[in-house]
This record gives sequence, structure tokens and C-alpha cells, in this order.
Amino acid sequence: MRECPSSDLPALPEGFRPKLAISACLIGEEVRYNGGHKASQFCTRVLAEHVDFVPVCPEVAVGLGVPRQPIRLVGDAAQPRALGSVTPSLDVTAPLAEYGERMAASLSGVSGYIFMHKSPSCGLERVKVYREDGVPGPDGGRGLYAQAFCAARPDLPVEEDGRLCDPVLRENFLVRVYAYAQWQHLLAHGLTKGRLLAFHARYKYQLMANHPQHYKTLGRLLGSMGRDQAETIAPHYFSALMAALSRCATRGTHSNVLQHIAGYLRGSLDRAGRQELEQLIAQYRNGVVPLVVPLTLLKHLFRLYPHPYIAGQVYLQPHPETLSLRNAI
Ligand code: SF4
Repeated sequence: MRECPSSDLPALPEGFRPKLAISACLIGEEVRYNGGHKASQFCTRVLAEHVDFVPVCPEVAVGLGVPRQPIRLVGDAAQPRALGSVTPSLDVTAPLAEYGERMAASLSGVSGYIFMHKSPSCGLERVKVYREDGVPGPDGGRGLYAQAFCAARPDLPVEEDGRLCDPVLRENFLVRVYAYAQWQHLLAHGLTKGRLLAFHARYKYQLMANHPQHYKTLGRLLGSMGRDQAETIAPHYFSALMAALSRCATRGTHSNVLQHIAGYLRGSLDRAGRQELEQLIAQYRNGVVPLVVPLTLLKHLFRLYPHPYIAGQVYLQPHPETLSLRNAI
């Protein structure tokens, strides 16, 4: 079996804390139109232990003040305007879009963004768009600041606070945040062909869990890379990687990966040991136990029977263990 060339890859420092941009109202800042906030328990009590938040309130930033009249999206859902809901002559369409572009450039150090749902500025999807007669239209839109920001940073992991209540989406988002941070770390230390290959090798099983077909496609892309082509290929590779990771892994794909990894222990375990591992993987596949159960046994076994290729795999711990994200999936 292949060795993982991970020694060439600069590791994130111990206790590393990614920077996450966040709608300021979600961490309790009283910046909403009514002077209130929308503090998210998960963000303020759990995530805050592991990440550094960069709070942003675009409506305050474009000068709307607190308190203020609420704004809403009006017109064509694909290209709405942001108008005052009391005074429609208040039009902040351009300022919100310009601020989104500006922040996308200036927040280059963030590894993800958590947006407030339903907001005409920050919402990512299904934000109400009103017709000119004041009646909500059938199609939802995207907040104008979020739209401009995401268009300028298409690879950045983004999620809405509400969707983070779903354990699968939450885990998936944090996998992407740490992958993004690892990539930023790699670029900061200098991109080389060896490091790019090492990065891909480390993500093998994570990719197989999220998107097995993309793992092969990405491998082929890197396989065609000439000696001096790392700089040219890297952006394409990374965009495709982030797209692949944004697809959620399932019990089926996770089980498949667990079985592959268990294969590395074949020569070390006796029959009873192999059966116990297989049983736990089957129980996970059937929804009897969460992912953390077979993973804990696997990690324990690899402490007893270390394997350098598996030791380099992100899949075994893509985010801090203390976040307990795999206890609920
Ligand atoms: S503009 Fe965004 S950050 Fe500001 S209050 Fe509205 S949702 Fe929260």
C-alpha cells in the first residue's frame, strides 16, 4: 500500500483556531433593525471555544444605524433591490453589494462564513422577495451582501445558522472549514508539487466519504501535472476539492471508507478482532450506533498497530475531537 508523503505538508499548529466571519447578530451583537440580536447557542457556546469569530453587520456598515427601518428585497428574485420597507425610496442595493465585494477582499484570512438566515442582506437562500405591489413573490432570493461576498469567494465554506442545527450539515461545514484552513496554511508556506500531492493523499478517505467519483477525477488532474505546473493546477484542484467536500457523506459512503481503512489492520488482528470491527461498522451502517463508535475503535487499533499512511489521513480527525461532531451522525 502507498505511503502518504505527508511529511512534506506543513501541519496546522497544535490548538490552531480558524477565523470564521459571522453575521454579527449571531454572536449576540445588538445590531438588528430593532436593536436586538439573534445569538446562536451553537456559535456562542460551542464553536466559540474552537474558532475566532470576525463579526460583520453589513447594514450597520453601510450606514443604516441601530435602530433602523427594516429593509426587504423587492422585484425580480434573480436580481432584487434592497429597499426600505417603510420608505421604499431608501435603496441600499448598491452599497450592500459594494460592501460585500470589499469584505470578500479584505477578509482573506477567514476560513468560512456563517450567515444569518432569511436576512435581505445576509441570507444565503430562500430570502423573501416582494413584488412591487408589496406581496411576497413565489421565489426566494439571496441577501445582497451575501450574494456579492459569495460571488467573489466561491470556494469559501459558507453556511446559515439555521442549517447548522442539522448534525450532518454541521459536520460537513466544519470539515470544509478545516480543509480551507489547511489549504491556506499550505499556500502560506509555499506551494510545491510535492505538497499538493501530499495534501491530496491526506484527503483520500475524506474525499471518498464525500464524493468518491471526485476523488478519482482529482487524482487524474494531479496525475497529469508536469513538474512546474503546481501553481497553475492548484486553484482548479482546490475549487473541485471544495465542491466535492460540500456534498454530504452518507452512512453508506462512511461505511465504505471505514471498511477500506479496516483493511490496513487485516494482518494485525485475529479473527475475533476483525469480527468485532466488522460488526461495529455494520451497526453504524444500519443506524444502530453513531460514526464515532467504529471510529474510536479504529483509532484505538491504529494506536496499537500504527500505519503511516492511515496516520496521515484527515478522515480520522478532520476537526477537533472536542467538538464531538461525529457523536451525532
Ligand atoms: S445585516 Fe446581517 S448581521 Fe446585521 S443584523 Fe441583519 S442579519 Fe444580522
